[in-house]
Amino acid sequence: MVRKINADTKVQYLKGVGPKRARLFNSVGIVTVEDLIYHFPRRYEDRSNLLPISRLQEGKMQTIRAHILSTRQRRSWRRRGFNIFEIIAGDSTGRISCVWFNQPYLKNYIKIGRDIILYGRVERYSGRLQMVSPEFEIVSDKDNAGSSSDIAGLTPIYKIPDGLTQRYFRRILRGCLEEYLPEVVDVLPYDIRVRNNLLNLAKSLLEIHFPPDMSHLKESYRRISFEEFFLFQIPLILKKLRKKQKQGISHKVDAILLEEFQGRLNFKLTPAQTRVIEEIKKDMSSSYPMSRLLQGDVGSGKTIVALFACLIAIRGGYQAAIMVPTELLARQHYYNSSLLLKDINIVLLVSSLAPSKKIRTYNEIKEGRAQLIIGTHALLEGRLNFKRLGLVVIDEEHKFGVSQRAFLPKRGSNPDVLIMTATPIPRTLAITLYGDLDISVIDEVPPGRKPVVTKFVTDEQRYDVYRFVESKIREGRQAYIIYPIIEESCSLDLRAANQMYLFLKDRVFPDCRVGLVHGQLNAKQQHGVMSEFKAGNIDILVATTVLEVGIDVPNASVMVIEHAERFGLSQLHQLRGRIGRGEFESYCILISQSDSEEARMRIEAMVEYSDGFCIAEEDLKIRGPGEFFGKRQHGLSELRIANPLTQLQLLKRARHEAKRLLRLDPNLEWRQNSALKRKLSERFPGYENYIAA
Ligand code: ADP
Ligand code: MG
Repeated sequence: MVRKINADTKVQYLKGVGPKRARLFNSVGIVTVEDLIYHFPRRYEDRSNLLPISRLQEGKMQTIRAHILSTRQRRSWRRRGFNIFEIIAGDSTGRISCVWFNQPYLKNYIKIGRDIILYGRVERYSGRLQMVSPEFEIVSDKDNAGSSSDIAGLTPIYKIPDGLTQRYFRRILRGCLEEYLPEVVDVLPYDIRVRNNLLNLAKSLLEIHFPPDMSHLKESYRRISFEEFFLFQIPLILKKLRKKQKQGISHKVDAILLEEFQGRLNFKLTPAQTRVIEEIKKDMSSSYPMSRLLQGDVGSGKTIVALFACLIAIRGGYQAAIMVPTELLARQHYYNSSLLLKDINIVLLVSSLAPSKKIRTYNEIKEGRAQLIIGTHALLEGRLNFKRLGLVVIDEEHKFGVSQRAFLPKRGSNPDVLIMTATPIPRTLAITLYGDLDISVIDEVPPGRKPVVTKFVTDEQRYDVYRFVESKIREGRQAYIIYPIIEESCSLDLRAANQMYLFLKDRVFPDCRVGLVHGQLNAKQQHGVMSEFKAGNIDILVATTVLEVGIDVPNASVMVIEHAERFGLSQLHQLRGRIGRGEFESYCILISQSDSEEARMRIEAMVEYSDGFCIAEEDLKIRGPGEFFGKRQHGLSELRIANPLTQLQLLKRARHEAKRLLRLDPNLEWRQNSALKRKLSERFPGYENYIAA
């Protein structure tokens, strides 16, 4: 029986796979033919350079073509049950031995007298040249080892599970492409392809896996990236169009309100803050609901801007809600805003409230007596009802998922929404990636701030670090010492907050007041410790990443981060953002022993850059867009090869085309857009909701 395969065919039914191997495919997320075809190579190796054996260099990955002179199967005498398959291959210039371990079936493929192409690292073993587990391909009689071969030329290397070989994977994939591609329907309309010089889908899929040369590879790469950007832009643009058509609240914005607000502050707003406030005022007074992303580095003063927006809503008789990711931060905002907005009824809603208190708070919110509501995820609680929710502020948005961010605004009828982030990305990039939002940027920090001096040290210098901390305490400053874990464990060889707290308190800093805060303390305890620290009753605070977001204690001027390699780059930057908030010179000391390449890059970036935009850009480079954006923006994880950072021009083009298409065919009803429409529903279930009803 011959069945045609389609995108949804399970890989199990492909020739050469079967149920057992299918499970291996599944383990890397490949279930269907579509998954397989969109499992793009991790990299390519250029094996087009066939070398004579006499010219091989030790220690390098190289490719040869040789004749199989002998083969031998034996058991290892060192390790029982260990099978070694060895061959000697030669050309007119020399000989080399190759070994493979525990693959006894190789003897069925690799036979004396045939020609073989071998690719691997060349070593010298007992005086002889050797490759260990090289990739290989038998050259069949009709082959000339040239372009028809899988491994001479640009060879794709995939992320594959243990138990499959690259060669096998390539064979299955090639077979699958040959069967599938003739059936494939292009999702990009013809005119878009022509205008942008893009290959058709079938050709680009074939050549991204098996590129005949570099220029073909580039073209396929470009085409597939374009498609990814394009598919990702459409729902964003639809969403934005849809929002602008909705009826929101036209808040009344009093001209003197800002003056009054400024009067409450003991500092002057920066020009950037003033500019952003103007943008927000305009949005809030307009009839469509605001959806604005406010980007600004740690410490740039976003909170004040948000509070002003809240004041606008509240003066017009609406409620405003601020959602933050940690209870510690919620309490801090609650405390600070209570000082600033004495005439407004502010309530705190966090999960640790006593049940009776919680019910009272719910009632206050429901009846409208609560004007400003500050809380954590507790605000997402289903039982909570607002009387007249007019503004939603989401602080530290990167800590929330897309659906969490979308949930709170649904508690009102099209309230204005302000989303704040301290891991900013360049504006041009933001405009496209957050295509459904309008964007404001606070691009300066309040005057008088000095950049934090950041140093990287190794474990041996630990006591110098301690002495340095002590000297700063003597000058009247305070310090944080951060650990990646709370409790020591036998599986991780890491210093932990609990144990180090005791050690530091008793042995290293007997004359200082040392405190401890971490996520296993309950919220009240955490808040208690933080208040003591803020009041200056604690000199050194040993902590975990509970401190990461928001905490503001200007007198703290030193931060030591242990096992810095364990933290992500944005996380390090956020942590460092806790210091350098006052008038004092501040110091961040990163202690690390790790020799991992990535960790080193992160630490170097920290030492080199203090600006959050640069840090975010570095982070994006190190982690790649999928990881970096994670749950921040819907659809970004769908970008498999497209990289917004390196392909910004292409992204802009794709956005431009997507806009054009939606102008012409807003509901995607044209026949030529039907493949596109189908693809979108598959990729972004629910996107149709954005299509104008
Ligand atoms: P972030 O943008 O990281 O949320 P915050 O809003 O917490 O920053 O502000 C950091 C600190 O800077 C706070 O102590 C705040 O009171 C102070 N601040 C904000 N704006 C100004 C300003 N214009 N001048 C001086 N200090 C300011
Ligand atoms: Mg903040």
